[in-house]
Amino acid sequence: MRSIPVEDYSKGLVLSTEVPAFLIADLLKCSNLPTLPTVAIKILKIARSDQPSVSDYANAIERDPALTLRIIALANSAFFSRTPVKVHACREATARLGLDATLAAVLSFSLLQNKAVDIHYQKVWMRSIIASLAARYLAVHICPDSAGPVFTAALLQDIGILALRATYPSEINKLYSTATYNHRQLSAAEQELFGCDHSQVGAWLAAKWGVPTPLAQRICDSHGEYNIASPDMLCIQLSGPIADAWLSSHPAQALVNVIREFEAHEGAHTISLRHLLENIQQQLPALVDMLQMAAPPMQDNESLLAEAQQLLFHQTLLLNARLDSQQAELASLHKRQDDLEERSRTDTLTGLANRAWLEEQLQKRFKLCQSQSRTMSVVFIDLDHFKKLNDQYGHQMGDAVLEKFGKTLQALVREGDLAGRWGGEEFLIILPDEDAKAAHLFAQRIAQRLEKTPMAHDDQHPIHVSVSIGIACLDDGGFGNASELIDAADKSMYFIKRTGRGGIAVYGERNSTDTPFEE
Ligand code: GH3
Ligand code: MG
Ligand code: MG
Repeated sequence: MRSIPVEDYSKGLVLSTEVPAFLIADLLKCSNLPTLPTVAIKILKIARSDQPSVSDYANAIERDPALTLRIIALANSAFFSRTPVKVHACREATARLGLDATLAAVLSFSLLQNKAVDIHYQKVWMRSIIASLAARYLAVHICPDSAGPVFTAALLQDIGILALRATYPSEINKLYSTATYNHRQLSAAEQELFGCDHSQVGAWLAAKWGVPTPLAQRICDSHGEYNIASPDMLCIQLSGPIADAWLSSHPAQALVNVIREFEAHEGAHTISLRHLLENIQQQLPALVDMLQMAAPPMQDNESLLAEAQQLLFHQTLLLNARLDSQQAELASLHKRQDDLEERSRTDTLTGLANRAWLEEQLQKRFKLCQSQSRTMSVVFIDLDHFKKLNDQYGHQMGDAVLEKFGKTLQALVREGDLAGRWGGEEFLIILPDEDAKAAHLFAQRIAQRLEKTPMAHDDQHPIHVSVSIGIACLDDGGFGNASELIDAADKSMYFIKRTGRGGIAVYGERNSTDTPFEE
């Protein structure tokens, strides 16, 4: 691979193309390589500047009266003008066309003016013009912001053919007169002969003229594999086959092939083939006229489409498509990941946070409280005599009680609190920004709820459970880490166990550092 650095260093861009050294040497030796008139060179220089402006373009174009008239006529043509208001000055015309289309027009006028225009030359340009219309139509629907540069690159995508033909006239004429070649086969034949195809030669030529690097790169990639990730490149890459279909002696079959290629990129975004063809039909005469070319071949869209539809039961081109389906795939992957994460955080029996998640959140919270001088409380709950409950009613009933208790707890916590199962019949609730008093009130609400609400029924008999609750608040003293806070709440809970169960104890109350007071 040979990288050709171009002069566009200011933007840090380097064109990457593969043109063998012998070919570059031959091209450089060629005396009638397509060249550009001074005015086109000047416009390219402006295009490469940091801030090309409409006035700069217009000032340069005005030095060439014939070119000025053509630019004004183009701006007033149906292709660019949606209003009956005519423009009369070069500046207005350039503003209406936009910088990209002006550049494309200047380059194509210049190239068509320069050469003895024969039938091959006409063919190349006709393909380019149809391709540029198709590309612009696609871009307007898929990536409207890039419609200008897409149009320009599609129009110039085959300029390499002109350079190859000037350099190797007999080989190229032989290649092009072989009627069986379609454009893709032509590229393959060029590859075999020269080690690269005309899109790479075109990019080299464009770079030599000094076109902005992104435009040269688009020319280079115009004939490559469909680039689904880049909608603007996709418009250019599809434009060639559409133009080939238009110019084919079997347009319906050729269009079917294009449709099939589109369909390879399945998805929701559709382009109406009918509208695309109508658009080309409408715009083509004006553009061809501007370029002073022979009358273009016109198609009978209706019968063409009908025939294509018979061959294939579709009338839309599925486009942009893969992008949409990729997005859907990504969304479902994200959802699956979210689901998995959710599952990895959740205790399956109770639906509350599991121990791992509680510990992680505790540590996070603890650090946050330290760095922002905030507080938090933890509430440790152990169900009383749960072993007995299991023994009396069975393990399944025990499970049902744990599940119901989990739901009851979840209903009592507020947003921002985190309730979880610490293990077995032990639960922990993190209460951010709450002091011991608020945590105590919360614990009381739990105890009251359990008094009122049975956690299960055995036949018709309600089963009530009581709990032992220990509370620790960060304010209550010198905790070095989250585990020490949990230990304190656990100690308080055990104080209740030791003193009869069914109660609430707060660590550090009544000025005791390790002996909580009993409710
Ligand atoms: P205490 O009042 O002292 O807390 O007595 P206890 O029986 O509740 O406590 P102990 O730690 O002696 O026993 C806990 C019991 O909880 C033993 C275990 O079988 C039961 N257990 C733990 N996890 C589950 C569970 O997921 N389902 C059921 N059904 N029982 C469980
Ligand atoms: Mg226990
Ligand atoms: Mg227990």
